[in-house]
Amino acid sequence: SAAATAPAAARSQCDPLDAAAIAKDFPILAEQVNGHPLVYLDSAATSQRPRAALDAERDFLEHANAAVHRGAHTLAAEATELFEDARAAVAGFVGAAPEQLVWTSGATMGLNLVAYSIGNASVGRGAPASAGLALRPGDEIVTTAIEHHANLIPWQELAARTGAVLRHIPAHDDGTLDLDAAAELIGERTRIVAFTHVSNVLGIVNPIAELIALAQRVGALTVMDACQSAPHLSLDLPALGVDLAVFSGHKMLGPYGVGGLYGRAEVLEAMPPFLTGGSMITTVTLDHAEYLPPPQRFEAGTQPIGPAIGLAAAVRYLDGIGLDRIHAHESMLAERMRAGLVEIPGIRLLGDAAGAPRVGLWAFDVEGVHAHDAGQFLDARGVAVRVGHHCAAPLHTRYGVTASVRASAALYNTTGDIDTFLDAVSGIRPYFG
Ligand code: PLP
Repeated sequence: SAAATAPAAARSQCDPLDAAAIAKDFPILAEQVNGHPLVYLDSAATSQRPRAALDAERDFLEHANAAVHRGAHTLAAEATELFEDARAAVAGFVGAAPEQLVWTSGATMGLNLVAYSIGNASVGRGAPASAGLALRPGDEIVTTAIEHHANLIPWQELAARTGAVLRHIPAHDDGTLDLDAAAELIGERTRIVAFTHVSNVLGIVNPIAELIALAQRVGALTVMDACQSAPHLSLDLPALGVDLAVFSGHKMLGPYGVGGLYGRAEVLEAMPPFLTGGSMITTVTLDHAEYLPPPQRFEAGTQPIGPAIGLAAAVRYLDGIGLDRIHAHESMLAERMRAGLVEIPGIRLLGDAAGAPRVGLWAFDVEGVHAHDAGQFLDARGVAVRVGHHCAAPLHTRYGVTASVRASAALYNTTGDIDTFLDAVSGIRPYFG
């Protein structure tokens, strides 16, 4: 698109996006659904892919496909170069060096990798430095009450395996985290503080600098779920000082089956492997193996090479438009959504914190109508939203509901999309009433 390819000098970071032009880069957005033009407002579940990302993966498979790192032939060398270039691009997208980026299959895998690695350190595996990561009975893992299950259950399991205690930072009614409670909870016994940058239900950007500072004060490891921030906010993970962070390719315009784990060099260096096998070793005997340094130590087996190359094209596309412009556009869409939703009788927003920085999503309850019925009503009008607990059941329990409707926008959504959505939502209660 013009937006993606224009030289940086030709436009300012403040220029508003031409979302309608951007949408043309996404073939699927031309689809009709139930006789209506598709209005895709489910990007928090999975984003759509621009032609540039689709082409990059296909191009690789058609012209350079080979197993990386160990082939003697030309294609293997080309594939290795493309794969390692992709690592540098995706690492650079979050401000990191290539060796700080571990490929995973997604955020869930990244968080499990971290939890299992710490579990392995806790039973004495790893280099001498791994002992510093070990958990003992009574140690505390602090997470928050608003997490996606992917940043909750791995910690429950780790606590059960090690005898550590899991504690939760509560949220206020408006969806913001209770930082006073956080300051009380994060103490001498805290070894890990795991939190999401942006909740996939509330859309609020959490005060991560404060959480990281509280954790650093007691020397706890910080683990951040950046799934819902990486496609929407400019990230410099080393500057934030977070120890580990994860994201998913398919939520940031890239393919399924690929994601990233960012780690501070000393932390990755101290972590024992989680999965073991080929491609992560230096020497192997029948009884023993020595492991490669990070990131390869954590990349056992054949990696998602094509998807990694597709993801690199996706982050180049995002960078070409500019995360600051994307954020400004999506904030405007969020405000338009809110202004419309609060005017519709019977709509209750989850996490309506005044003035809180947010991405372009809102979850809401429709009084007297089940979220699934509301979702089907919108779908019949071409509007795609998410319904259910969005893998954040405890958060829904906190708000006294079992399910909600979630509309989540991305850079390719226009104000017209939001107006179509609002018009459809205003018809829900009259229809079911
Ligand atoms: N964390 C958050 C905040 C999410 O929104 C999601 C996806 O729904 C995940 C983690 C898990 O991502 P994945 O299913 O791609 O591993």
